[in-house]
Amino acid sequence: MSIINNSIQKAVALLNQDEVIAIPTETVYGLAGNIFSPKAIASIFSIKERPSFNPLIVHIKSIESLPSIAREIPEKAMLLANAFWPGPLTMVLKKQPQIPDSVTAGKDTVAVRVPNHKVTLSLLEQLDFPLAAPSANPFGSISPTQAVHVAHYFENKLPMILDGGSCERGIESTIIGFDDGEPILYRLGSLAIEDLEAIIGPLKTIVHDEKAPPAPGMLSRHYAPNTTTYLTDTISADVAKFANQRVGVLAFKQEVQNTSICAQEVLSVSGSLLEAASGLYAALHRLDEKNLDVILAERFPDSGLGKAINDRLQRATKK
Ligand code: AMP
Ligand code: MG
Repeated sequence: MSIINNSIQKAVALLNQDEVIAIPTETVYGLAGNIFSPKAIASIFSIKERPSFNPLIVHIKSIESLPSIAREIPEKAMLLANAFWPGPLTMVLKKQPQIPDSVTAGKDTVAVRVPNHKVTLSLLEQLDFPLAAPSANPFGSISPTQAVHVAHYFENKLPMILDGGSCERGIESTIIGFDDGEPILYRLGSLAIEDLEAIIGPLKTIVHDEKAPPAPGMLSRHYAPNTTTYLTDTISADVAKFANQRVGVLAFKQEVQNTSICAQEVLSVSGSLLEAASGLYAALHRLDEKNLDVILAERFPDSGLGKAINDRLQRATKK
């Protein structure tokens, strides 16, 4: 049997044996293990080559499991959970003592969410424990949104990749923390800020030290292709500057017309930010495989999901 398959039963058996497997979610594929298994948690960090000071997100099957993970649940956290779970919202809350330090990197807080993917919800239903599941990519590289992306990174390191098709949202979850019950934005993601603010009012954005961010997704270089990538407001003019090189273009709605372009990806001809976000990483993976000298990415409108797309493109461009 190929390591990419859709047997939930096999996934349950492997996870019960302290193994790490890849699982689908609506955001990106995750590298999942039992939060209470020291062996599984250690494997997640070693497979990803993720620094041990970076905590993991705990995935639970429903809102009812939240009190067993978090010891304090602010009113606004409850409002958000009711509005958006299952969904691409992670909340960082004070942890219950039984949540292992290896999962939270020794912090007194834990990041938690209910993923919105029917395969993984069914998997979680059949397990007696939550799953720690960071994105299934080597630390810092482009996140996987299809089972084949995971295979490309980790074919020989995993016993199984549970196939759930292409991730519907395609960008990591939005992360919110709380200070004295008031929400703070830690990481932009698949859930637009405007949607959160409609439920709980204005969000503060955390001001952080670039070298020691509260969440690794906030490191200035992350989600990055191997090919040198630039984010630009003037894509047509910039393509012309690379006339003698192998140029790839990542555009929002419209193709850039220039015969010197070697490869081009248009993310949403209809101008849908949702569609653009869901196809973003797959397009970056394809461009990155084409041996280009440079990828030029067009900046998105700075509202709704456009903010999260620009955030990821910005981090893809840093050296
Ligand atoms: P990933 O699943 O790889 O997209 O990364 C999960 C994100 O959640 C990382 O950026 C973590 O740092 C963040 N995270 C997990 N636990 C905490 C925590 N206790 N405090 C702040 N951020 C956290
Ligand atoms: Mg990640």
